[in-house]
Amino acid sequence: MAVREILIIGDPALTRKAEPVAAVDEEIVRLARDMVETVHAAPGIGLAAPQVGVGKRVIVVDLSVGEDADQLHVLVNPEIVAKEGEAVSEEGCLSVPEIREKVARPYRVKVRGLDLEGRPVEIEGEDLLARAFCHEIDHLDGVLFVEKLSALKRALIKKKFKKSGAAAKKA
Ligand SMILES: [Zn+2]
Repeated sequence: MAVREILIIGDPALTRKAEPVAAVDEEIVRLARDMVETVHAAPGIGLAAPQVGVGKRVIVVDLSVGEDADQLHVLVNPEIVAKEGEAVSEEGCLSVPEIREKVARPYRVKVRGLDLEGRPVEIEGEDLLARAFCHEIDHLDGVLFVEKLSALKRALIKKKFKKSGAAAKKA
């Protein structure tokens, strides 16, 4: 397993729609395990494959950040099949470091996908878990949470990372 580099806003890979996974093979399992290691190391509570530059529909969500194996969800081809209510809360993203902004999300969602054995799974989540699923599945469609903010806020954030992105590449 390996910690992979997390791409930062401004990288074109973050705005591309990810492809469905045709088969949960060794490569996907390796990707998913690396993603788990990467999100725990960050540390963060969720990561989508496009954030490590892979255009495949794979997400990991772990609200416990590695403390509780029962809270680790790895989903291949995840889809939101039901949603209910609304909650507005602060949200952040490993690809948009140090920025936290209020975003409206469904309060409760039901997500369907495949596990790493290729078996269908269905998970219900509410509050922060629902938010994390929505956020990560948005990544698979090339959507960052800043797209949910006002045009002005979004422009300021993009400007900030245009500068810091150039600095990071030199470092
Ligand atoms: Zn994110």
